[in-house]
Amino acid sequence: MSGELRCESLWYGADIVTMQDGKYSIIPDGAIAVRQDRIVWIGPAREAKHIKAGIHTPFKGGIVTPGLVDCHTHLVFGGDRSHEFEQRLNGVSYSEIAAQGGGIISTVNATRKATLEQLVSSAGWRLERLLAEGVTTVEIKSGYGLDRDSELRMLQAIRQLAHNYPVQVQSTCLAAHATPPEFKDDPDGWIAVICDELLPQVASEKLADAVDAFCEHLAFSPEQVARVFTAAQRLGLPVKLHAEQLSSLGGSRLAAQFNALSADHLEYATEADVAAMAASGTVAVLLPGAFYLLREKQVPPVELFRKYRVPMALASDANPGTSPALSLRLMLNMGCTLFGMTPEEALAGATIHGARALGLADSQGSLEVGKYADFVHWPLQRPAELVYWLGGQLPCQVIFRGEAIR
Ligand SMILES: [Zn+2]
Repeated sequence: MSGELRCESLWYGADIVTMQDGKYSIIPDGAIAVRQDRIVWIGPAREAKHIKAGIHTPFKGGIVTPGLVDCHTHLVFGGDRSHEFEQRLNGVSYSEIAAQGGGIISTVNATRKATLEQLVSSAGWRLERLLAEGVTTVEIKSGYGLDRDSELRMLQAIRQLAHNYPVQVQSTCLAAHATPPEFKDDPDGWIAVICDELLPQVASEKLADAVDAFCEHLAFSPEQVARVFTAAQRLGLPVKLHAEQLSSLGGSRLAAQFNALSADHLEYATEADVAAMAASGTVAVLLPGAFYLLREKQVPPVELFRKYRVPMALASDANPGTSPALSLRLMLNMGCTLFGMTPEEALAGATIHGARALGLADSQGSLEVGKYADFVHWPLQRPAELVYWLGGQLPCQVIFRGEAIR
């Protein structure tokens, strides 16, 4: 029969929030046709009569969104810092905690001691929390090993998580996260190890999809970051940067110069930074969890990102020190309540713009023909509810690569 479209599965009976062009772009009472792992047709259900599917799945109301994208996490680490969190709230100062071996160095020590299996298992528990609320793509960084073997082990753990769970995992090498204790008086020595030894090995073993660094007074200078980025670029690895979180060092402009996928945090970004990011197509990844936990006052320049049309992503920044976040949805609420984003911008930040921050906007992040069939059905009336309900686990059905996985 002419005009017939054959596919494996047809999903219908819900309003489809496609997030095309970063807007809700809702198809009321829509249908999605899937062949293998891709969307082959999407539109109003009444126009789907020509589609012949092996499996029909009616949703009986509710909404369908793209699978959520958490584009900035540090899910792999040893130990946790709940003890320090409690100490601080009992009046113990940061310097006393640091003197006891606390802070990032305690996570570095615990990560170095952990086996590959231990890293995979503890990160898996945290990853499961994100998957339960509809995440189908997640980025995970190294950066707590801070020696060659421990950084490689973290990256191997990240690759292993991708095998163990139904989720796309993007791996980022963040060896330039902090100066290792062994290089306390010679941070440039560690930068040289990263550029000359670690990154070439990471690239040849295909252990990372991108390279990140932390540009801040308490971490690395723009000059040091530029060395790491130059090495990454030579190896064909895209870059991203923790920039302008606590002060303005021009890291986001540097990131733009290197055509970075994203610059992340950005509380102290200036108009010149934002203009440079717009010109290079660099995504602004906003991380309200760390802002909240550190009780920061300076909010990222959301109005400037809008003015210059820099896409804004939102992510959990899940990490043991400044954002022990196990819910991306809670971050969407914080992006609105703390940073003044709209719910539509927040949802775009955890779908299409999150995908863009990972260089994956052509294959996921919105529901369009040709993209992966990664989507989530929610028994909700409207998409703003995903942002509005404060925490808790909303029931949802997750479809990953065309298969219902929960
Ligand atoms: Zn981070």
